Amino acid sequence: MPGHSSQFSLDGYAHLLDAVSENGYRIMRLCDYRIECPGARVLILRHDVDMNPVWAKTLAEIELARGVRSTFFVRLRAQYNVFQIENQAALHWLRDSGFEIGLHNDTVSGGSTREEFVAEIALEKRLLEEAVGDSVRGICPHMPKRQKFRLTPNEIVTCGFLYDAGEHIFNKHAKFASDSSGMWKNDLNPVNLLGVEQQIYLLTHPVWWVTNLHPQDVLPQLQAWK
Ligand SMILES: [Zn+2]
Repeated sequence: MPGHSSQFSLDGYAHLLDAVSENGYRIMRLCDYRIECPGARVLILRHDVDMNPVWAKTLAEIELARGVRSTFFVRLRAQYNVFQIENQAALHWLRDSGFEIGLHNDTVSGGSTREEFVAEIALEKRLLEEAVGDSVRGICPHMPKRQKFRLTPNEIVTCGFLYDAGEHIFNKHAKFASDSSGMWKNDLNPVNLLGVEQQIYLLTHPVWWVTNLHPQDVLPQLQAWK
């Protein structure tokens, strides 16, 4: 049975990247954009690794072949385990290939007080840094509307992060487009933004591009928290 739209495929992803480059956009990791704040044509490229780090690597291989680097946000309380051998190997490959790895925090399970929440974030950060073998500078929440707290700008600093991916700076000049739920949110296909918007902030989820899984089957898994 065919899954979602055929544009969400590995070929579709390659074509998307090629179109972005052909239109003169520089593709950037979030950490670089956060520091440089460039004014020229830029596409900020973010991936939320909700399901599987190996699928993230598959998408990154397409980028690497084109000289592109991006940022992958990884969960600690997902169905996958970052210390499992294949998953950890994928994370090490991303690190060694120049991709940024950030924390996709999943702190809804605990954190009944603000102090507990901050302590859980610190734990997730430390564990992810152990798994990746590198420091983690970026954070963004998985399903933010379901999380009770979000780090304040001051807590971002005290927890040792450089940025939160939802910070105003990423949306100030860049038009946001996302493949959430296996379709372009608000019908905003980034290809249609090329040449129209000077800067684009693109969020993808590898599951839609790497697998044929149907959103109806995937989305309940992402929300199955206890
Ligand atoms: Zn997520």
